[in-house]
Amino acid sequence: MDIIRRESGVTRADLSLMTGLSRSAIAEAVQDLLNDHLVAEDVLEPGGKGAGRGRPSALLVATPPRGVVVGVDFGHDHVGVAVADTEGTVLAEQTSAVNVDGQGRAALDAAAGMASRLLSQLGLGRDQVLSVAAGIPAPLDVQSNRIRAVSIMPGWTRLNPADELSGLFGRRVITFNDAELGAQGEMRFGAARGLRDFVYIKASEGIGASLVLNGSVYRGSLGLSGEIGHTRLSDQSQGLWCRCGNRGCLETVVSSVLVAERMREVGLVAADEIFPLAAAGADPVTSAIVTEAGRTLGRVLADLCNWLNPAGVVLGGALGSAGQPFVDGVRESINRYAHPSAAEAVEVKTAQLGLRSELLGAVAVACHEALYVG
Ligand SMILES: [Zn+2]
Repeated sequence: MDIIRRESGVTRADLSLMTGLSRSAIAEAVQDLLNDHLVAEDVLEPGGKGAGRGRPSALLVATPPRGVVVGVDFGHDHVGVAVADTEGTVLAEQTSAVNVDGQGRAALDAAAGMASRLLSQLGLGRDQVLSVAAGIPAPLDVQSNRIRAVSIMPGWTRLNPADELSGLFGRRVITFNDAELGAQGEMRFGAARGLRDFVYIKASEGIGASLVLNGSVYRGSLGLSGEIGHTRLSDQSQGLWCRCGNRGCLETVVSSVLVAERMREVGLVAADEIFPLAAAGADPVTSAIVTEAGRTLGRVLADLCNWLNPAGVVLGGALGSAGQPFVDGVRESINRYAHPSAAEAVEVKTAQLGLRSELLGAVAVACHEALYVG
């Protein structure tokens, strides 16, 4: 079944060659899959691939599973839920403002409620959900599934998000760090398609990152990799205290909240739409403030380019939606501080999916779970 899904169009003879199993064993196994409607046959034209003498052979293709997947994205102040088919096409989607950091249980309940409403709008029942994946905006220990730094999300103390969500959804729910899902979303549907080595940055209230190395997400020994927001800036030995207990961290200098504050300081209205406005280049002062934030982030990313030589840096989150001024700042510092060859090798761009990278990443992972893990 794995080979048929992966190759999308193989003959029984191909399967026999690829698995080393006898033709009769393959014929029997394929008949079982046909009986279960898991695969379908496309009859080949004469002379086509796999066509030879004797009985015409047929291409075997996987039938998409009948059902849907659910992706959930918890931000610090919002919950997003999407219901999609197993190809990743979103059928229904909703994002609501929720105090996620402060009220863990309420946020989990809200996500389950939104999923139920979306499913009923689509005329679907819970039994048609094949898999559920959720992103959590905090360091998530992959061994225990628990949040490692409760100072970051005080309302989640003693909660195990995967267990709680599994209870609410009545089925196993898999959880990931939000930046990892952002990377997955951009890799499957967005700006990182075709990239095997890249860094995804979620720059919103905090700064998180996900590393994709050699085509796979690199999580580290406990799943805590990518905490780039807690890199101490070299000129910040007397810097502000950070929520992690250190001082002078990147997050104490760069975040969507701090950029909005600086805008207010210079008399600009800092509303939700400021970042898209910066992207449009509508206001030079806004652009300058966003570019400055990009330069500071880029200083940290320059070192990372020397370490890892990525082909891409994908900037997501609210600051990512500020577009070109943010990219320009990051680019400037990478050019100035990274090794020239490493700087030249890396493309800096914004997330193509905008603020939906994490939610669509949850959908992508849930699709993979439905198709390959079950
Ligand atoms: Zn910190």
